[in-house]
Amino acid sequence: MASKLRVLGSGNAFCPPGRLHSCMLLDDRILIDAPPTILHQLQKNGISSSQITDLLITHWHGDHVFGLPFLLLDRRFISDREGHSKLRIHLHSNGVERMKEICSLAFPNTLEQVIEERVEWVVENNGHANGWDYERFPVKHTPETDPHGYLLRDKKGFVLLHTGDSGPCESIDQRTPISDVILLEMGVPEGDDFPYHHTPKDIVDAAKLHNEKQFLITHSYASGKEEKIGFNMPKLARNTIQIEDGEIYKLDATGITIL
Ligand SMILES: [Zn+2]
Ligand SMILES: [Zn+2]
Repeated sequence: MASKLRVLGSGNAFCPPGRLHSCMLLDDRILIDAPPTILHQLQKNGISSSQITDLLITHWHGDHVFGLPFLLLDRRFISDREGHSKLRIHLHSNGVERMKEICSLAFPNTLEQVIEERVEWVVENNGHANGWDYERFPVKHTPETDPHGYLLRDKKGFVLLHTGDSGPCESIDQRTPISDVILLEMGVPEGDDFPYHHTPKDIVDAAKLHNEKQFLITHSYASGKEEKIGFNMPKLARNTIQIEDGEIYKLDATGITIL
């Protein structure tokens, strides 16, 4: 069966109209990042928090990790009261204590046991997540957040490059040629002089340089396509798709197909 990418959110940290924080779900069980509204994002898509076997974290900004306490709270008290399911959390090694602290700040004296008994921390840079192999690699984003992306390969050899939050950088350039689909962020509009995010022009440049590749654009500053307020979606290159919340893509040898 082909792998599946579900868009739980496609917006930047400001949640532009029509978009919740950027968050991806692979095969309805591998979550990439946990934004603060993760429970709403899962519910809207008919996914139970107990279905999630693996959480891959890109970096420590709040729009990517502040949902972890809610995810664990829901598993503990609602979706997995009996404690049948384990959650493997894949992250850069500097993050384990930080994630525990976020959980105890959010819900003091509540999640310690579930973390102890039902969470496995995976800190190696190369690993496996329920049918996918991955390499975690550094990207160019606010350095204090230990920013990383993931090069993910499924059992059939399909390669998805999830670049996290990042400006253009060598580590992405190096991996683009070996990827089937590249998930790029578009965190800031044109004219915003900030090296740690992609602008529309950065994306056009990357897409033209690798015109045989397909790019999916997320973490967008622009409003969703049905919205009347906020920033308009920019024109990008032919081989880019500005993805929207709730969309599902099939990933296989033919490339990507919207379901
Ligand atoms: Zn972000
Ligand atoms: Zn960030």
